[in-house]
Amino acid sequence: MTRNLYIYNTLTRSKELFKPIHEGAVGMYVCGPTVYGDAHLGHARPGITYDVLFRLFKHLGYKVRYVRNITDVGHLEHDADEGEDKIAKKARLEQLEPMEVVQFYTLRYHDAMKRLNVLPPSIEPRASGHIIEQIALVQKILDAGLAYISNGSVYFDVAKYNEAHHYGVLSGRNLEDTKEGTRALDGQSDKRSPMDFALWKKASPEHIMHWPSPWSEGFPGWHLECSAMSEKYLGETFDIHGGGMDLMFPHHECELAQNTASRGQGGVHYWMHNNMITINGQKMGKSLGNFITLDQLFTGDHKILEGAYSPMTVRFFILQAHYRSPLDFSNDALRAAEKGLKRILQAAKDLKGLQVSPGQTPSGEIVALKEKVYEALCDDLNTPIVLSHLFDGVRIINSVKDGSLTINQSDREILSGLFGDIMEGVLGLQDESGNEGSGKMIDGLVGMILDVRKSAKANKDWATSDRIRDSLQELGIRIKDTKEGCEWTIG
Ligand code: ZN
Repeated sequence: MTRNLYIYNTLTRSKELFKPIHEGAVGMYVCGPTVYGDAHLGHARPGITYDVLFRLFKHLGYKVRYVRNITDVGHLEHDADEGEDKIAKKARLEQLEPMEVVQFYTLRYHDAMKRLNVLPPSIEPRASGHIIEQIALVQKILDAGLAYISNGSVYFDVAKYNEAHHYGVLSGRNLEDTKEGTRALDGQSDKRSPMDFALWKKASPEHIMHWPSPWSEGFPGWHLECSAMSEKYLGETFDIHGGGMDLMFPHHECELAQNTASRGQGGVHYWMHNNMITINGQKMGKSLGNFITLDQLFTGDHKILEGAYSPMTVRFFILQAHYRSPLDFSNDALRAAEKGLKRILQAAKDLKGLQVSPGQTPSGEIVALKEKVYEALCDDLNTPIVLSHLFDGVRIINSVKDGSLTINQSDREILSGLFGDIMEGVLGLQDESGNEGSGKMIDGLVGMILDVRKSAKANKDWATSDRIRDSLQELGIRIKDTKEGCEWTIG
């Protein structure tokens, strides 16, 4: 922990020096996806932002426990007209078990994240797997006198909570703003005030996902799962809570209020929020016809896409903006990102074969460059500045390559560190063609070895033939002799 890391804390509205609760360890919780549909462009930004933070903490030597939940209960995603949650509706229409729908989209989400080179979190808890913890939490809030039961549902009493605490402390509003921002009760509601939010909802007969509770057969309120699961896996107080800006109110505000109501404290030291992605200046939405799934982005299969964009291009594009700044998606911006990515990856490749000049004095420029890269990274994850410094490195590499500049061994090592540990390790930018390339190389090598074995067999040199088979097997390559020749598989 030799470097100071500064993080913008939404709660205090200032950039603060990060001080972990436990020396050398970090606990971070990030709101994950609701798995009732395909992962879309909006999932890529928080996925990548908190992945960079996760990677950076590890790079700086911290032990990190990163918890990212899966919202699979589907509540509060009611269809306006039918009042039925989306997981339940899809399950009914397709005659599937709700968990089948959830599993399908969870796997698709994992696949998209993997392609974006987003590391899996340390723990990925599901809301539906933590109903017991959520019921216990509701009971605690009831015991504290800050919730009430109404017709089988349980609601958080916002006005009462606000007498001793500040409801709105995170999103920077007071109770009056909140009151004005909520719709009046329609007369059918069980709530005492429109500001109150559900901790437990009694399920209507058509609601398929429901669980028994002391109050009714029902399901937990959406905000509850994050309070329950973050406490379970990170403790009553933990370091970082992240998510998209769109979750700040009401989701995170309610979470903070639930934490305070049940344990006497907000529990989170640093609240972080990434800004949103717009598409050609517009908010992304199904009704606007600009809703792009990650799959469509990778294949180009959407009317507003002028082509397919690789996962690494999308990652690079997202890192080109600071996570707290808005980011506008357009085909031009993506094409520019594609070019930039190609240039930086080519330089990283060229760096490996770069000639060094012995006796050359070290250039202060490269030592300074390294400092600037770390400074930007530790300045609230300023990835656009990190990239601009890495492009200074690209210029140096290209000058050495074309012979207009020489560098010594130690400078080359610094550059290797920047492109290996930082570009690839922390920013997670990697050569996508590399995987295909090494796959081709393995095919070629195994093919060549099997040719040698074939001639050994033709010469009745069984010892060599068997040795090749056994050695390949030790490497995890199984071979099978067939009439046509020889087949092989890995694993
Ligand atoms: Zn959440």
